[in-house]
Amino acid sequence: MRTCQWCSKSGWFLKLTKDGLCPTCEADVKSRIIHATQVLNESMRLLKKSKDLDLRLSKSKVAIEKLRDLLPYFQKGLVRLKPSPQEWVMRIHSEQRKIVNQHIGTLMNDSIKRAQQSTNAAQRSAVFEVVQDGIHKYSEYLGKANAKRWQSKIEIEQGYLVKDLENSANKKSERDIALDQYKETLAMMRAEFAGSREQVLEIRRIEKLITDLGGQLPEPLKKESDSNKSNADKEPSAASHKHQIIIPQKKTGTS
Ligand SMILES: [Zn+2]
Repeated sequence: MRTCQWCSKSGWFLKLTKDGLCPTCEADVKSRIIHATQVLNESMRLLKKSKDLDLRLSKSKVAIEKLRDLLPYFQKGLVRLKPSPQEWVMRIHSEQRKIVNQHIGTLMNDSIKRAQQSTNAAQRSAVFEVVQDGIHKYSEYLGKANAKRWQSKIEIEQGYLVKDLENSANKKSERDIALDQYKETLAMMRAEFAGSREQVLEIRRIEKLITDLGGQLPEPLKKESDSNKSNADKEPSAASHKHQIIIPQKKTGTS
């Protein structure tokens, strides 16, 4: 008795090919195998060569579909595949995970760069929506563990970037505090200025500290010291000025 490998039809006089197929099955099975193998090879080629993630993923799905189509023929020894279709499917799954992880990694790095360019905490967080969309879109390829890992990476980066922003804000306020202190000191020095060289040097030093911190020098340095000076120097004339005001009054008073 002869039995067809594929349809299990049997008979004493059944003609079988060297693959063990009856005449009915031969053409059909062969054409199915040829078609599936061609589509598989073309899909694998694009999966490897293409730069387009979505195309690669869709081709990887087709490849898996064709490997599943070929599996029964493989199991009956009608088609040879190396590695086995099951092994091949596993490798494609891991390739899918790999390329999607790479893609999410790129989105993540771009988002971190863009976040760093913003000085707004909400904007810094919002930048990562792109990554979140990517995780959502490709979740079937990533698997739960990877999706979770990326999600927590986003949260860590967001936390870090916002913290970083707070730190630089604190630095700024420290700088402002220092500026306030220097300006206060400067104002005191100017008020107490008695014209000594040490005082001039000390004032110059504080002024430099202020400008080095990017602060504006309180305007009335010259005016203040001038007016202090003029008060000190020109006291007699100021007094005479007073007299000048008073004298006419006295004159008008006497006349
Ligand atoms: Zn058959």
